[in-house]
Amino acid sequence: MTRSDNNNLLKGDRLTRKLDVVATRLRDLFGTPARKRKLPDPLELLVATILSQNTNDVNSHKAYVNLKTKYPDFMDLAGVRAGEIERLIKIGGIAKKKSITIVRVVREIRRRFPRFNRRHLKSEERNSLIDRLRELDGVGYKTACCVSLFALGDDDAFPVDTHVHRVLNRIGVVNEKTPDKTYLAVRDFIPPGKGYEIHINLIRFGRKVCTAQRPGCSQCVLFDVCNWKEKSLQVSERAASANEEKVRFMLLEEV
Ligand code: SF4
Repeated sequence: MTRSDNNNLLKGDRLTRKLDVVATRLRDLFGTPARKRKLPDPLELLVATILSQNTNDVNSHKAYVNLKTKYPDFMDLAGVRAGEIERLIKIGGIAKKKSITIVRVVREIRRRFPRFNRRHLKSEERNSLIDRLRELDGVGYKTACCVSLFALGDDDAFPVDTHVHRVLNRIGVVNEKTPDKTYLAVRDFIPPGKGYEIHINLIRFGRKVCTAQRPGCSQCVLFDVCNWKEKSLQVSERAASANEEKVRFMLLEEV
């Protein structure tokens, strides 16, 4: 074994141990999230994920409902012009860009995937499916992993969004500059079957405690293991109110 192999093993070992501490404490804090009984359709989930970009859950859900009401079968979106759906999804923001992406993605899916349903997608090996989905223009690691985790019920998939990226880097589980790099650094270290739990609890934590602005470090269950240089025991008013508000999330699962 070379020195570099050895260093990688040590790095992987540290990452595994820290991730385990994070997962355990967040489970103590939030519990083990329960999955919905009925998994969403893969194409509907994919479209919902595109709609959720750069907006809040409430508005992206409204945009989704508008689109679904007019086009109950999203495969039909392959035959419409982007301009036709732009006004339907306007409430979700950057509608022009999203409408172009959605129509293009659905057209590509029709061309490249003979069947885009759960049974067929599930038969593919996870990383190869994620790579195939990423070949669709406008689909990145996060969206591809969301399809795998939420629509295929793959508990080993682990989408990394801005919340997950921010929290894992502040704590020091990884030291990466972008969500994609964070995903690539952690994906092989997620304990088997724990992708759903860790993903959901990190998002809860990132929205309620370790917020982007003025995180609630003073009440944080991870304070002692967190590497963030700016962590502080001073109570943040904003963090306190964030804890009290009803946090709505994961509408993706409800599509
Ligand atoms: S101590 Fe602060 S920065 Fe670190 S994980 Fe907790 S809330 Fe986030």
